[in-house]
Amino acid sequence: MGEPFQLKKNNGVAYLSYPPWDEKKIVGHGFSTRQGGESRGPFASLNLGTRGGDNPFLVRNNRQKFLAIWEKEIKQLVYGEQIHGIETAAIGKTDAFTEKHEYPGVDALITAEKDVVLGGFCADCLLVFFLEPEIPVIGLAHAGWRGTCGGILEKVVFSMQENYGARPENLQILFSPSIKVGCYEVGDEVLEYFKCTPNKEAVVLQKDKKTSRVFLDIPETNRNVLVRTGVDPSHITSSNYCTHCYPDLFYSFRGAGGTLTGSMMGIIYLT
Ligand SMILES: [Zn+2]
Repeated sequence: MGEPFQLKKNNGVAYLSYPPWDEKKIVGHGFSTRQGGESRGPFASLNLGTRGGDNPFLVRNNRQKFLAIWEKEIKQLVYGEQIHGIETAAIGKTDAFTEKHEYPGVDALITAEKDVVLGGFCADCLLVFFLEPEIPVIGLAHAGWRGTCGGILEKVVFSMQENYGARPENLQILFSPSIKVGCYEVGDEVLEYFKCTPNKEAVVLQKDKKTSRVFLDIPETNRNVLVRTGVDPSHITSSNYCTHCYPDLFYSFRGAGGTLTGSMMGIIYLT
């Protein structure tokens, strides 16, 4: 199976986008790589996250450079605090273009406002892009194992229905690069957590019979979760890139041994 995302370059910045969405022209969207920024050391070079301890001025420059690909500005960007929770914020006109960029306690954003740029950050976790083209309304969710079993994606689908009348069967979904099952060994803490969530039926694990090591398939688990909410499986497209296997292209929290590393960013906006 070929990679559905296309690797592109603009002004030195390497990024990924999904050609069928580029052609639709309802949305602008993209997912960054680590190439083409100003950050140094473990953050080299296009770090777009502020959490890891990188110089905030360099991160700001990197964000500006990334957003400039779509002729967007930092003042248009909104994002969640990302605490591995399931809170979803609907961004209206009054929220947009104010100083409020980061939404506390939030892991997913949805909006029907044009030119509000939804952003999300990850360095192994999955970013999930949502488009309901009939309304139109968009969403962007951050899903690691905790958010996945907590129900972040169902929450987004439900919020899009409730707030904007979106229909699950109309939703078009994109999964960003993320850590893939072969690189994502999980321990008892994670397995215990999954046993007592509403999403335990959706969980996809791989067990190595010789070593008894267990691996979690984050994209496949989230695919199952979405199908259970009424999303058409043929409307879900996933990148094949593993963030852990391509250290030249992506930051990986696991790959960095849980120490300092940068973040990629995904963005989506209605045109
Ligand atoms: Zn890998």
